Amino acid sequence: MATPPPAHPTAPPLPLRRVTVTAVRRITPRMARVTLGDPSLAGAPLAGPDRQVKLYFPRPSGSEPVLPAPDPDGDVMRWYAAYAAIPEDRRPWMRSYTLRAHDPSAATVDIDFLLHGDGGDGPATRWARDARVGDVLGMFGPSDHFAPPVDPARRDWTLLVADACALPALATLVAALPPGHRALAYIQVADTAEEQPLPTRGRLTVHWLHGDASPEDAVRAADFPAGRPYAWLAGEAGTVRALRRHLVEERDIDRRAIDFAGYWRRKLTQDDAPTDEDLTEARERLAALREDT
Ligand SMILES: Cc1cc2nc3c(=O)[nH]c(=O)nc-3n(C[C@H](O)[C@H](O)[C@H](O)COP(=O)(O)OP(=O)(O)OC[C@H]3O[C@@H](n4cnc5c(N)ncnc54)[C@H](O)[C@@H]3O)c2cc1C
Repeated sequence: MATPPPAHPTAPPLPLRRVTVTAVRRITPRMARVTLGDPSLAGAPLAGPDRQVKLYFPRPSGSEPVLPAPDPDGDVMRWYAAYAAIPEDRRPWMRSYTLRAHDPSAATVDIDFLLHGDGGDGPATRWARDARVGDVLGMFGPSDHFAPPVDPARRDWTLLVADACALPALATLVAALPPGHRALAYIQVADTAEEQPLPTRGRLTVHWLHGDASPEDAVRAADFPAGRPYAWLAGEAGTVRALRRHLVEERDIDRRAIDFAGYWRRKLTQDDAPTDEDLTEARERLAALREDT
C-alpha cells in the first residue's frame, strides 16, 4: 500500500530527515527497538500518541537510501512524484512505522520493529534484523498533516485492539490515557514472551491473545463497560475491517468514534497496489475525518 504522504497546502519545508541508528536492542524475541538520531529531532516534544512516519530503506542493503531533495516550497506531491520516478531497482523501499518514544534532549526517536518473518521477511524487517549503529534511513514525518492527532480518551471508555505490529502504537495510546480512564485492550502476539509492560495512568485491562487466537472472536465475546466507547483498531487489514463492522453493526457504536487502520495485508507487501477493499477503507476513513471536522 504505497500511499504517498498526504498533501497540505500550507506545509512549510517537508519533515524529511536522514536518521542514523544510535542503538539497537531486542526488547522481546520478535521485537527490535531501534533508536534513530538526527539533530532536527531535538527540542519540542512531538505532540501526542500514535505518531506515524514513513521510513525509507536502502537498496542494496548496507548503502544509504538516496531520496530526492525537497523543493523549498515544500510541495509534497512534487516530492513524491520525484521519489516514484526513481527506477524501481534503486528506489528506496517505503514502509510505515510508529514512533514508540521521543527523547528531545538526545535528539532521538525509538521505533519498535516486529520481526514478523514467518511467511517471509519484507525489506523493512530484513533491515531491522541486521540493523547496526551507524546505519542510515530516510524518515518522512511525523506531521499533523500526515496523521491527525488522536485523543484516546475522548469518550466514556476506550477499546484498543492491536496485533503485534500495532503494539508499539497501542503502547503510546495507553501511555496517554488520563488518570482513572477505563480502557480495554485486546492484543494479539505470538506467545507470552512477546507480552510487554504497558505503563498507564488509566484503568486498563489487557487481554493478551496468543498465536492464532482471533481478536474478532475475543471482542465479540467481551462484556463492554457501560457508557459510550472510543475504539482504536489496528493490525491485519481484513481483521480490522471485520472488527469495525462488528462494532458498528452489532454493537451499535458510532462509526465516528472508531479510528481504524489496516497495517498490513496477508500475502501482499506495502509496495503492492491497494485492493478494492483497501480503497473502500480509505474512503471510509476520509469520510469519518470529514464528519469529525
Ligand atoms: C500507520 C502504520 C504504523 C505502523 N507501525 C508499525 C510499527 O511501529 N512497528 C511495526 O513492526 N510495524 C508497523 N506497521 C506495520 C508495517 O508497516 C508492516 O508490517 C510492513 O508491511 C512491514 O514491511 P516489510 O518490508 O517487513 O514487509 P512487506 O514487504 O510489506 O511484506 C512482506 C510479507 O510480509 C507480510 N507481512 C507484512 N507485515 C506483517 C506483519 N505485521 N505480520 C505478519 N506478516 C506481515 C506480508 O503479508 C508479505 O507477505 C505499521 C503500519 C502502518 C500502516
